Amino acid sequence: MRPSILDPLFAPATTLSGVGPKLGKVLDRFLGEETRPARVLDLMFHLPSGAVDRRPSPSIAEAPIGDVATFAARVVEHRPAPAGRKAPYRVIVEDETGDVTLVFFHADSRHLAQSLPVGAYRLISGKLELWEGMRQMVHPERILDPKAAGELPSFEPVYPLTEGIGARVMMRIAQAAAERCPEMPEWQDPAFLAKGDFPSFHAAIAALHHPADRKAAEGDTVARRRIGYDELLASQIALALVRRQQKKIAGRATSGDGALRFRIQSALPFELTEGQRKAIADIHADMARSERMLRLLQGDVGSGKTVVALMAMAAAAEAGRQSVLMAPTEILARQHAERLAPLAEKAGLKLALLTGREKGAGRRQVLEGLASGAIDIAVGTHALFQEGVAFHDLALAVVDEQHRFGVHQRLLLGAKGEAVDVLVMTATPIPRTLSLTWFGDMDISILAEKPAGRKPIVTRAISSERYDEVVGAIGRAVENGQQVYWVCPLVQESDTLDVAAAQERFDALREVFGGKVGLLHGQMPGREKDAAMAAFVAGETRILVSTTVIEVGVDVPNASVMVIEHAERFGLAQLHQLRGRIGRGAAASTCLLLYKGPLGPIAEARLTIMRETEDGFRIAEEDLRLRGEGEVLGTKQSGSPDWRIARPESDGDLLAAARDDARLLIERDPQLETPRGQAIRVLLYLFERDVAIRLLRAG
Ligand code: ADP
Ligand code: MG
Repeated sequence: MRPSILDPLFAPATTLSGVGPKLGKVLDRFLGEETRPARVLDLMFHLPSGAVDRRPSPSIAEAPIGDVATFAARVVEHRPAPAGRKAPYRVIVEDETGDVTLVFFHADSRHLAQSLPVGAYRLISGKLELWEGMRQMVHPERILDPKAAGELPSFEPVYPLTEGIGARVMMRIAQAAAERCPEMPEWQDPAFLAKGDFPSFHAAIAALHHPADRKAAEGDTVARRRIGYDELLASQIALALVRRQQKKIAGRATSGDGALRFRIQSALPFELTEGQRKAIADIHADMARSERMLRLLQGDVGSGKTVVALMAMAAAAEAGRQSVLMAPTEILARQHAERLAPLAEKAGLKLALLTGREKGAGRRQVLEGLASGAIDIAVGTHALFQEGVAFHDLALAVVDEQHRFGVHQRLLLGAKGEAVDVLVMTATPIPRTLSLTWFGDMDISILAEKPAGRKPIVTRAISSERYDEVVGAIGRAVENGQQVYWVCPLVQESDTLDVAAAQERFDALREVFGGKVGLLHGQMPGREKDAAMAAFVAGETRILVSTTVIEVGVDVPNASVMVIEHAERFGLAQLHQLRGRIGRGAAASTCLLLYKGPLGPIAEARLTIMRETEDGFRIAEEDLRLRGEGEVLGTKQSGSPDWRIARPESDGDLLAAARDDARLLIERDPQLETPRGQAIRVLLYLFERDVAIRLLRAG
């Protein structure tokens, strides 16, 4: 049950004074959800985005023009609008250095006579302007008796607004909500707080709603970081609890004698890199433990993740158990199967392919092999996890290119065997800050270096007006025995238009290069896709025109030129993924980014970054900077963290600290029973990560 200390915060916003049913409805739409109204909590976490400087100027002459100015002045004269005319009502105020005309449209003269009596001194604040050489202020925002000057804060917070709520009302109710914040039991480590000079939660909330300066209002303070850290800790603890729970599910140790692995390694035409060796060792250690493995293998495109997966699957087979390798697309599943089959065969392993396209007798045979245990390794798409697929003894599931799967789908993986070890491979170089928020519940192995012998890719941005030159250049590359990917862009997110663009380019290049040109797109029947891919791999076609279906994982070492049309339409991560298809073989590689000008600033920045670096991590960080968190991993999916206060792009240090702290805490106090554990429960409810608490009871 929710700790009662939080009750005032979880009450509906309408319990705040001044929030009636009408304002309540507006707030529900703004800060509530379909299933619940806006609460005091939502307003308390609705933080200012900036502040207005209302510090008084010493005199009218020194008050800033063109900005919000605050000054004391004596009321000299009222000039009501002449009867029947639409002119505004004017009030003249002055001090010894100058005067200001206050301008009121549709004025209520009685009200003005009261608030600005002639002869009285007033503190006035609002936007000061020059009008025909005279200072004027249209509709002052504040008019105060100097005795009440204390009511005017030096910096007045400005809140994000919605239609139907004015700035002053929003400030009043957000601050009222903050007032409701109780003194909380401290859930943070006191030493950590002391070191960073962090205030208490309560004090931090108060400081955020009463900023001491502009920077504070923009969230650049220890108060904002404190609460951001609270939020990160809550999420990391929730993840740690989930992880503990998942690991508790009947773990089984899987370990073999190493014989199959040895055979595979001897059959490889190359030496494993240091990173690969380390990752393989990590994975085997995990598998040999009786707890469930949940590991993320993160490596830039071309870093050689597949062979790591194969070694893991071989280890499972040594123990007489089965593995699956799941790819996001058919093309990729087929490619994996084709490339792994010879190695598997040399080691005496039985490998089968299962996608939605395997039908009839072939499919039945695979299903039988999986059920009997005759098949050691199944490679396929999500079809592997559909109903009717049963395994004899599944030990390991490897998920390739994970970002293509919804995050929630990985939870499905557990369902096929009681204690399936899970290895997730991702080629999207996820910045560390993000990988922690998304994969904080997983261990991580990183392939940092690329296999030896890779040559740098020369990347150039070229205006599409120079199309003819580009065609000439790829003609020369083809003459030299090279192969070319020609990528056509997304057209308005529409498959059909995409395909039309690719088809058109295919036709045009075919006029020039004839049968050397192939075509590949998502709407082709499976067999045709296979044939197009096979022809390119075999070198029968030299130029492959495609949509972005080749983005993920396709590996043709002889392809060393890539043309990307309308490169300005692609995101950075996608450009990087695409470019990763070349630079894999012996020849020097070139990537030509064709763009149609004029370029916007972001598109230009993207192309510049692409020209400057091949470092996937740097590209991902830049991407994050240019696009913001939500988009880096594609459209926001369910299960994505949605931060109220934390800023993963600038709170990376806190995220790492929160992760370490959460792990330690859960190790020492797995049931959250100590005093700090009790406080942590409050924290989990406060940030609505309390589903994790249910796991405590279940376990
Ligand atoms: P990715 O990490 O993008 O999935 P792959 O596993 O497809 O990368 O590997 C890319 C290419 O590098 C493949 O052709 C693979 O055979 C090759 N490769 C993998 N490991 C090494 C290595 N240690 N040395 C040389 N080449 C390697
Ligand atoms: Mg791959």
